[in-house]
Amino acid sequence: MSKKIEEIRHILMEHHEMIKNAIPLIASENITSPAVDEACNSDFSHRYAEGWVGQRVYAGCKYIDLIEDMCMELIKKYYNCIFADVRPVSGVVANLALYNAFTSRNNGKLMCLPIPKGGHISHAPYQAKSGRLIYGTAGTVRGLDVQYLAFDEENMNLDPDASAKRIREFKPEMVLFGGSVFLFPHPVKELSEVAKEVGAHVGYDAAHVAGLIGSGYFQDPLREGADAMSISTHKTLPGPQHGTVISNRKDLIKDLKNAAFPALLSNHHLHNVAGLAITVAEMLEFGKEYHKKVIENAKAFGQALSERGFKVLCEHLGFTESHQIVVDIVDFEKTVGLGGDIERLLEEANIIINRNLLPWDIREKRSYLNPSGLRLGTSEVTRLGMGKSEMIDIAEYFKKLIIDKKDPKKVKEEITEFKKDFQQIKYCFQSSNQAYKYLNFY
Ligand SMILES: *Cc1c(COP(=O)(O)O)cnc(C)c1O
Repeated sequence: MSKKIEEIRHILMEHHEMIKNAIPLIASENITSPAVDEACNSDFSHRYAEGWVGQRVYAGCKYIDLIEDMCMELIKKYYNCIFADVRPVSGVVANLALYNAFTSRNNGKLMCLPIPKGGHISHAPYQAKSGRLIYGTAGTVRGLDVQYLAFDEENMNLDPDASAKRIREFKPEMVLFGGSVFLFPHPVKELSEVAKEVGAHVGYDAAHVAGLIGSGYFQDPLREGADAMSISTHKTLPGPQHGTVISNRKDLIKDLKNAAFPALLSNHHLHNVAGLAITVAEMLEFGKEYHKKVIENAKAFGQALSERGFKVLCEHLGFTESHQIVVDIVDFEKTVGLGGDIERLLEEANIIINRNLLPWDIREKRSYLNPSGLRLGTSEVTRLGMGKSEMIDIAEYFKKLIIDKKDPKKVKEEITEFKKDFQQIKYCFQSSNQAYKYLNFY
């Protein structure tokens, strides 16, 4: 068995070596700071603490309660809200908590975006499609009847007028904004009014944009009409992998609490709650500067790719207002291939991205395995200290690989050299001590 353990350790080390030398552009990923890592490796990871702070099902929770309370207070400060539940263990679980609180169990009606237009698998129905079963979370777990809001493909956003019409027709119990391809703020204000007209609750899935929102960019859903917001804590918010639900509706707090525990959780990964508390403290201190740069870098990267012959969506809108850009690579179908092929080609040179369905791919019979889009995110490269000039360097690597068809092995060597200057995590306390000093302040 010790041989097995050696083998596992070796593989982990190889993974770390790969990441160390890579350009990480997955829009849903980020990296945690030294202080967060320390908290996530603490004894909290061995413990149980079912229930709410002060009302635990287990003994031994006095320090856990202190930290969880601190975490909720920090989140409330960051989002300027009155309620935070930091127990959901992921973004999907946070979404399920919203469904539990806002919809009926069977044939409850939900409106949101379909996956090819930015929706997430956790929003999707359970349905048979072309002989294949789709196990979307909303349908499979809650039995929800899911219908879609209208989407404007030119502007990569919800179509407010057509969506309003659909909301009035379908009369859902819940309207859910937000998505995984998320370039521009959704028209939450206008459509929340329509949702309220038909008696629906409004949710906002901020999995991707949670950090941008907390730092005061993108949009402010709780003040635009959303009753609750679900969060992944590890995308633009650079924390450990976890979830959170927030709200400003005093009358909904009890339902939202019960919707998470006992409905969905037993243990809630206490080490990650500690790591999240530190992350939010970091973002209260450094978030404004960090997230401003993330968005600037995304725009600059869009511009640099566009200037090199790539079709970046929504040039007429400045490409993006978030941490993501989306590239239509259909022009390279004959020379290099589609999304899946390009993803593999870039990976050979150690550029890690993900292929993505574009809104028209289903119509054109392309599957998620080889769609016509790439989704690129700047959260992690920004956290490593990269700026506009590095966005140009990375766009140049894309050109070398996809347009000039340079040998990916050669480009990989260049990238390893390039990456040497970006090995330290920025926009955080550089030591755990500094972070703990800051936490005591609260
Ligand atoms: C990533 C994502 C989620 C799921 O988050 P996890 O934390 O991975 O469970 C939910 N909704 C959207 C829109 C996402 O992009």
